[in-house]
Amino acid sequence: MAYQNPKSALQMVESARAAFQTGATKDVNFRMKQLKQLLRMYEENNTRIVEALASDLRKSRQEVEVIEIELLVHDLKNTIDSLHEWVKPERPPRSFANWLDKTYLFNEPYGVVLVIGAWNYPLLLTLLPLAGAIAAGNCVIIKPSEVTPASAKFMQEAIPKYLDNECYQVYTGGPSETTELLQEKFDYIFFTGSTHVGRLIHAAANKHLTPVTLELGGKSPVYIDNTADIDVVAHRVVWGKWINAGQTCIAPDYILCNKEVEAKFLKAADNVLKKFYKTNPKDSPDLCRIVNDKNFQRLSGFLKGANIALGGETDAKERFIGLTVLVDVKDNDPVMEEEIFGPILPIVNVTNAYDALNYINKRDKPLAMYIFSNNKRDVRLFLDNTSSGGVCVNDTAMHFTVCALPFGGVGASGMGRYHGKYTFDTFSHKKSCLYKSLGGVGEKLASGRYPPYSQSKTSA
Ligand code: NAD
Repeated sequence: MAYQNPKSALQMVESARAAFQTGATKDVNFRMKQLKQLLRMYEENNTRIVEALASDLRKSRQEVEVIEIELLVHDLKNTIDSLHEWVKPERPPRSFANWLDKTYLFNEPYGVVLVIGAWNYPLLLTLLPLAGAIAAGNCVIIKPSEVTPASAKFMQEAIPKYLDNECYQVYTGGPSETTELLQEKFDYIFFTGSTHVGRLIHAAANKHLTPVTLELGGKSPVYIDNTADIDVVAHRVVWGKWINAGQTCIAPDYILCNKEVEAKFLKAADNVLKKFYKTNPKDSPDLCRIVNDKNFQRLSGFLKGANIALGGETDAKERFIGLTVLVDVKDNDPVMEEEIFGPILPIVNVTNAYDALNYINKRDKPLAMYIFSNNKRDVRLFLDNTSSGGVCVNDTAMHFTVCALPFGGVGASGMGRYHGKYTFDTFSHKKSCLYKSLGGVGEKLASGRYPPYSQSKTSA
């Protein structure tokens, strides 16, 4: 498919760099104006945003309002309210040797930033880093995902109407257009997507020693023990798994529990699913569709030969996969060999918390981990003995919504973090500065460092 871009990748980067060099984005009032314009873009285009996401993923208005709009607007307003405070240089404490000097940590914009977005929350995951990069004073090129074309088109059309046209630009396309962009030198790259492509981005950035944030995926486990209230667990797991039809980077990927908990969970989950999506989930207006045929085929493949305890219905024409729970799942089943990223939830049986810990620690570090338990000692055991991007105890996905908690992965699930002030920090080079005065007492005290060296000078 041919993508319409107003400039080549090279021209776009050159014009963004020229704009950065004018110093316009260093002015905090300029940044503030751009952030307010981004907010206006959201306020004035609510209907278009809802329509774009309905077209790309059949997302319900409610999910769009709460996740794609509210989370961004909340973060944006917080950034606008805090920006004057955030940009101030930090004043690190001085040691005795520096008591006559001043110490600063300046927040310096990197320069020209590339933000590469994913398709599952196509606006939020592209515009949240854009807002942070603007706040920190960078020029930005965003590359939305090609998999959700209506959302990409919205960004390509709306952003030039609201933001400065040289400082903030949109380049559309898929892997080959992204590869073209990656030939150019950026000062920071912020990527959201799969671990496989994250490796390619890291390698391309390495060529220019460009720092990166990689927001990747992985298999996020859920451990449930028999002290947990299974009805509450079922509500929270079913919600976290089936929003966006499971196409969420921090969706519960699989459950670890014993057979007794499994039986209770299946009964409770069946009730909750009927409560949420009625007896025929395909007719529910609240369920998204699988984003494209390729993913539909990949997900349907997981059901072949599997022991389906709940759901299992598929409809290729509508790209619909019913809410499906698998049992008797083995370690080497295809569904356990990659991130599921769809409405299928396997249950792997373990005998106790230690067994679950071993299972998790044999695998790549996940993006999120969920523990449902009233046993504080066992919760502590997981917190102390596993590594994951984030953890949510007794709920799923909600840690993403807390601005004060940095969000990001570790190991194969990514590097770097953002949200709230952490996004501003991500896009700011923290420049250290020691500020001394010339001459006076300071010069006398410091004279011991000058040659000719002598024992008496250094021990004084
Ligand atoms: P993806 O890696 O296929 O694509 C992400 C971006 O990279 C897109 O803009 C795409 O155009 C580009 N791209 C794809 N192939 C490329 C290539 N060969 N060379 C250069 N660029 C390329 O990911 P996706 O399918 O859009 O998203 C799904 C994945 O993203 C899942 O693994 C999910 O867990 C992860 N994800 C992570 C987060 C997070 O915050 N950590 C959020 C959402 C999604």
